[in-house]
Amino acid sequence: MGEYLSVMEDRNLPVVSGASATVLIIGAVGDLGTTGLALAQGFRKAGIRCTIFEKHESLHAQPRDWNMGLHWGATALQGVLDCESWDKIQTVHVDPSAPVADHDVLKFINSMTGEPMSEIHTSKFYRLRRSKLRSLLEHELDIRYKKVLKNISMSGDGRTATVHFEDGSSYAGQFVIAADGARSTARQLLLGKNKGAVRRLPYAATFVHAKFTAEQALYLRSFHPLYIAGIHPSGFFSFFGMHEAEDPDRPETWTFFFYISWKYSLEEQDSTAGWSNKQRLDQVKSFAKDFCDPWKSAFEWISDDHQVWYMGLTDFDPGSKGHYWNNHGGRVTLAGDAAHAMTYQRGQGLNHSVTDAAKLVNAVTDAVSGLSSQATSISAYEDEMIARAGGEVRLSTINTEMLHDWERVLASPVLTSGMKHKHK
Ligand SMILES: Cc1cc2nc3c(=O)[nH]c(=O)nc-3n(C[C@H](O)[C@H](O)[C@H](O)COP(=O)(O)OP(=O)(O)OC[C@H]3O[C@@H](n4cnc5c(N)ncnc54)[C@H](O)[C@@H]3O)c2cc1C
Repeated sequence: MGEYLSVMEDRNLPVVSGASATVLIIGAVGDLGTTGLALAQGFRKAGIRCTIFEKHESLHAQPRDWNMGLHWGATALQGVLDCESWDKIQTVHVDPSAPVADHDVLKFINSMTGEPMSEIHTSKFYRLRRSKLRSLLEHELDIRYKKVLKNISMSGDGRTATVHFEDGSSYAGQFVIAADGARSTARQLLLGKNKGAVRRLPYAATFVHAKFTAEQALYLRSFHPLYIAGIHPSGFFSFFGMHEAEDPDRPETWTFFFYISWKYSLEEQDSTAGWSNKQRLDQVKSFAKDFCDPWKSAFEWISDDHQVWYMGLTDFDPGSKGHYWNNHGGRVTLAGDAAHAMTYQRGQGLNHSVTDAAKLVNAVTDAVSGLSSQATSISAYEDEMIARAGGEVRLSTINTEMLHDWERVLASPVLTSGMKHKHK
């Protein structure tokens, strides 16, 4: 990524190409990209022309895959999709053969002893595979690939915003919505490099996808058909879940997804930044030696060169002082992780992101139809989103701190209020 430039007036800019869509969306298909795709589906349904610009070169350019829990945000996602797409939601579930239960229980256990700690009761808890969800959402959209956002400029007449890409192309539209993820370039353009950056947190996690023998897979799945969470007295949080069980009768083909997260100072994160896959795997395997099953056996059974994925935790609170961006009369705004990056142990990010999409489609529709001015409707969207998701960013970070602190864990938000939306 080149240097960050601030949003500027474009009186002196050269001719803009391809200025045909009303809404220009940045970000769609890379690491997860659900917000941009959900927005675009909503605009398609509302009959509003929209183009997505994505930095990767294709829908499946990112080989990394994982799954996410969709619960209170399901209504919002259903609202932006056409009936035919929503009817296929079961097909993107980690186990498409098992209908999503009306009521489900997420178990928390002491991951050292195996003793039950708590149970969270949920209704219609969808566990969706990222890659399959992407495929469900991308149909009939105008997506331009290999478009890396570099700058945004505003027309002098107050009517359009123009997005500029590293390949030299630029496009103008009435609305620019940046859904370019937790490390959003657009956010840094709007707020400046420092204020617009994610905040690094002193926590990290190492993730694994793995297949096992049929016998091992059946044993690992016996703890819960879909997911189980563990809290370790030494300050570890862990998750173990099904990732892909397309063929329910062949357990040797199932893929599991699991991770351990722990408190890791920024100094430790920096000093291990250059670690190899082997070092990351050795580290997490050594943690798991002191765990009960399913983690202990699963980490023992994966080979010493198994590919893992490590990530330091971050957040961005849109409600923090100095984080309110200028939307230039409603011409440019943020949605999804770009607006509110949050830690994932409370499983809220996707739910807020699809809620942003539904609310933003309504805000743009109101502005386009003349029901309210562009500035008023986009500012109203932002005010609601900042209050809702900003509160969740703060709660999710507190939750992460408490889950890794045995003395405070029982009072953590996920154990006291489950996955429920903070305002409910
Ligand atoms: C391990 C893990 C587990 C999670 N579990 C849950 C869960 O159980 N429940 C839940 O609700 N949430 C969960 N989340 C959070 C959830 O995945 C995210 O909040 C959500 O997917 C946000 O998606 P997004 O589209 O806003 O951002 P992203 O998925 O990051 O997409 C951003 C897009 O922008 C593109 N892009 C970036 N920069 C540029 C640029 N300069 N130019 C053009 N394009 C660009 C990227 O390529 C990408 O396509 C989890 C997250 C993780 C990491």
